[in-house]
Amino acid sequence: MSNAKQYQLAVLMGDGIGPEIVPASVKIIDAAVKAAGVAPIQWTELPLGREAIDTHGKATPDETLAALDTVDGWLLGPHDSAAYPEPHRSMLNPSGTIRKHFGLFANIRPAKAFHGGNAIVEGTDLVIVRENTEGFYADRNTFAGTGEMMPTPDVAIMHGIITRAATTRIAHEAFKLAMKRDKRVTIVHKANVLKMTTGLFRDVCRDVAKEYPEVSVNDFHIDAATVHLVRRADKFDVIVTENMFGDILSDLAGEVAGSLGIAPSINSSDKQAMAQASHGSAPDIAGRDIANPIAMILSSAMLLRWLGAKFDDDAVLKAADIVEKATELVVSEGTMTPDMGGTASTSGFADAVATATTRI
Ligand code: ATP
Repeated sequence: MSNAKQYQLAVLMGDGIGPEIVPASVKIIDAAVKAAGVAPIQWTELPLGREAIDTHGKATPDETLAALDTVDGWLLGPHDSAAYPEPHRSMLNPSGTIRKHFGLFANIRPAKAFHGGNAIVEGTDLVIVRENTEGFYADRNTFAGTGEMMPTPDVAIMHGIITRAATTRIAHEAFKLAMKRDKRVTIVHKANVLKMTTGLFRDVCRDVAKEYPEVSVNDFHIDAATVHLVRRADKFDVIVTENMFGDILSDLAGEVAGSLGIAPSINSSDKQAMAQASHGSAPDIAGRDIANPIAMILSSAMLLRWLGAKFDDDAVLKAADIVEKATELVVSEGTMTPDMGGTASTSGFADAVATATTRI
């Protein structure tokens, strides 16, 4: 039963294709919640990214962080932090800042092929559970500073951190998810070379596995995992891995499932969640109304699903179903953006999905 909660969500447009794919997702969520009988979402737009540097002096303004703490969840557009002027370019980027500030430790990245989409491996339906707070992204590992240093102009040093606590936490996320899916978990590491760090990751995941005897477990080195994904992505269910491996592997998995442009993700703690496409800001195609909004749309559906579970709200779960089914319907009818082999524009695709929410 719905508890008729009215949700407050924030939107952060970001850079590059963000101002195209985020409004597309908002339009579809609005249509889906209406179709599901959920009270209209109360949206707040907050500054972030290149524009915020000019208006607020920071890519992730303090006001934005404070406001995010008051809402039920948010949609984060991609950022093009590599193009920011210094010193902003060298600082922790907006998504890293937000993930760290709110302790969003779990980055859940599904890769699912669409019927009629141009998947490299038909039948791909896997989820990468990526640890978000440590690993080999040095900027996540420090209280102050970026975690990288250059003792001389010709020498650069970074560090990676794996802890038992963070690995235990993410492993439970992966095994809990596997229990709701096909009950298979693959641990990805590089314990033949990074013996202590990723060896600890593998061993802790295997310890946690003992608490889920119904789930079968195997493990691959990261390099072997890429090979298996390209040929046999359809054989995977849940993959659990550290921060950087998960980032790289999920781009690959998204492309194998049809396009990086369809790969959604959610970043969550037990208290908060952020919808964020797996891809970046795609500056090469920004402003041309050709970006695929599916990743952002499906990330938004994941956020609705997370809210539905948190607030025990069947109506918002139904809205998430409607978003997913309407997107699948439109793709199956041949409406797709150019990255999937179609000719639809970003806005045209979004309009088609918004209209399709009434046909589910
Ligand atoms: P980041 O490091 O911020 O994740 P990146 O270097 O991985 O960024 P992306 O911005 O994700 O790079 O772009 C990689 C390629 O995928 C580019 O050619 C881009 O045009 C394409 N791409 C990314 N997202 C989409 C999308 N939504 N629709 C179509 N093409 C996309």
